[in-house]
Amino acid sequence: MHPNTLAPMAIVAPTARQSVAQAPVNTRAIQDLDAAHYLHPFTDSKALASHGSRVIVKGEGIYIWDSEGKRLLDGMSGLWCMNVGYGRKSISDAVYAQMQQLPFYNSFFQTTNVPAVQLAAKLVEISPPQFNHVFFTGSGSEGNDTIVRMVRRYWDLQGYQGRHVIISRHNAYHGSTMAGASLGGMSGMHEQGGLPIPGIVHIGQPYYLEGGKGKTPEEFGLEAASWLEQKILEVGADKVAAFIGEPVQGAGGVIIPPSTYWPEIQRICDKYGILLVADEVICGFGRLGHWFGSEYFGIKPDLMTFAKGVSSGYVPLGGVLVGDRVADVLIEKGGDFNHGFTYSGHPVACAAALENIRIIQEEKLVDQVREDTGPYLKQKFEALADHPLVGAAETCGFVAGLVLVQKKAANIHDCVPFDSTLDVGMICRDHMFNGGMIMRAVGNRMIIAPPLVMTHAEIDELVTLIRVCLDATLADLTKRGLI
Ligand SMILES: *Cc1c(COP(=O)(O)O)cnc(C)c1O
Repeated sequence: MHPNTLAPMAIVAPTARQSVAQAPVNTRAIQDLDAAHYLHPFTDSKALASHGSRVIVKGEGIYIWDSEGKRLLDGMSGLWCMNVGYGRKSISDAVYAQMQQLPFYNSFFQTTNVPAVQLAAKLVEISPPQFNHVFFTGSGSEGNDTIVRMVRRYWDLQGYQGRHVIISRHNAYHGSTMAGASLGGMSGMHEQGGLPIPGIVHIGQPYYLEGGKGKTPEEFGLEAASWLEQKILEVGADKVAAFIGEPVQGAGGVIIPPSTYWPEIQRICDKYGILLVADEVICGFGRLGHWFGSEYFGIKPDLMTFAKGVSSGYVPLGGVLVGDRVADVLIEKGGDFNHGFTYSGHPVACAAALENIRIIQEEKLVDQVREDTGPYLKQKFEALADHPLVGAAETCGFVAGLVLVQKKAANIHDCVPFDSTLDVGMICRDHMFNGGMIMRAVGNRMIIAPPLVMTHAEIDELVTLIRVCLDATLADLTKRGLI
């Protein structure tokens, strides 16, 4: 039977008094319809159809459940976004109330709405002092599209029409729109769709394990930053508009730069008058134990992209915090800025974000990650480095990554890596799933970005689960003769 002919009631059949969430789900029927009609992001649809999607039906705290009733500890916070954890009734209440009051109105027609204004003011309150203005979008990618147009407009308005080049980094992730994917440094993305768009160039990433052999992390950090200066001189300083980077690269595999990197990047940007853009989509809203990752690294960006943690993913929302240097020019000299989205300042999304930030403040989650649970996660997670499969394990606030290696050595640069074609990361990820743990694989790096609400006991559970699943991976690899 073609899945199209399945009546909806055959898939989810709630009885009169059951909510849909409680109703039993026919996993197979959902998987068949999924394979027949739903093209997933960043997915090989044919391969997925052959084994079927895992159907996620519920979330509570740091856990999610699939349609077979299996509970998983969500070490990835959904997709780096569920900072306050699942099942926050006060956010659903705020969303419901706003939907009844005013579900939508635009901000194009010289009109505004109360949650958008309140959220803009709240974001200014919690961000560093140079930020006094906010531009809203529906996602992080749209935020970075906004960045491209804003920095080019900034230079145009001051008579520097040639100053349009933006420098980013290989293996950066800045979203998946044309501009976002161009700013990003993922070769697999550039290959599809004729990217990058003109005027975007890339330098190497500050990944010590990849490029730091024979150097201290501090030496390597300075070297990686010097690539920016080289690129500026190569392009011509009068052509470079901005540098953009994630404080800690997320999707690239939780690449934590050496401590010397960001201050040197700041110095170089200042030297050439180049705008510094921090993509805070992951690092913002407490993930590194500060409201923004830039504060952790002590840099002073001119613009910051945000999304994900701003609303803990309850409703899509993104945007750009615009520093005074840029805002003053745009506002004083700019006239119309011909850019914006239907959902810029969406009242329901802004209401969700306001309640989310209220929770983060009330529960002191930023301080908790910086002073208590972050250091605790560091101690526990970094101890995984004694596992026979783990070459190195590192954390920064509430992001963490470990490297799977075939053979360990005292110095990480002497470890024997796995052949990348074996996809050992994916094998490990499957063992994590089976063991009830969501951990993401990026090549042979296994990464987490857990909800900021985790307690010590939950961190213990997380690290124990990871260790058990690493053991299962080791046993499996040994059986397959891969180790
Ligand atoms: C997720 C992400 C984006 C893109 O955000 P979307 O909401 O998926 O468009 C941009 N930058 C970084 C650093 C991200 O992690």
